[in-house]
Amino acid sequence: MNFVKKSPWILHYDGSSCNGCDIEVLACLTPLYDVERFGIINTGNPKHADILLITGSVNEQNIPIVKQLYEQMPEPKVVVAVGICATSGGIFAECYNIVGGVDKVLPVDVYVPGCAARPESIIDGVVKALAILDEKQKALTDRKAAAKDAGR
Ligand code: SF4
Repeated sequence: MNFVKKSPWILHYDGSSCNGCDIEVLACLTPLYDVERFGIINTGNPKHADILLITGSVNEQNIPIVKQLYEQMPEPKVVVAVGICATSGGIFAECYNIVGGVDKVLPVDVYVPGCAARPESIIDGVVKALAILDEKQKALTDRKAAAKDAGR
């Protein structure tokens, strides 16, 4: 992961989860699982975030919020859908206001299975997201270099 020069920061958004997955996300931050050992920090500001981690499905009410959070994040960025609700709508998929999983609205890079998703799975998903973030950073750097060359 040579291109990830800074500690990756995560923005966690609860779409419409039952809070089961959110508790597991919080568990990842405790000393027991300690995601900070990977240099990962939880931030509340999308403008500082590299990874958008979403629990719960998307619904008619939160679609604009999810899109706005994503658009405020700087490039490169990755999206991690945590739990079966964020993946497909899960047990809420047939509810009147549920649109489905996060990929109905945003490009999802990593799907973390489970109901609730276990902390080990969430950490595994975030580590996979770091590798994707690294690839995206490399592609962005290449594109910028090519644009600079073309401008000469
Ligand atoms: S996947 Fe399960 S635990 Fe997670 S938000 Fe959905 S119902 Fe709750």
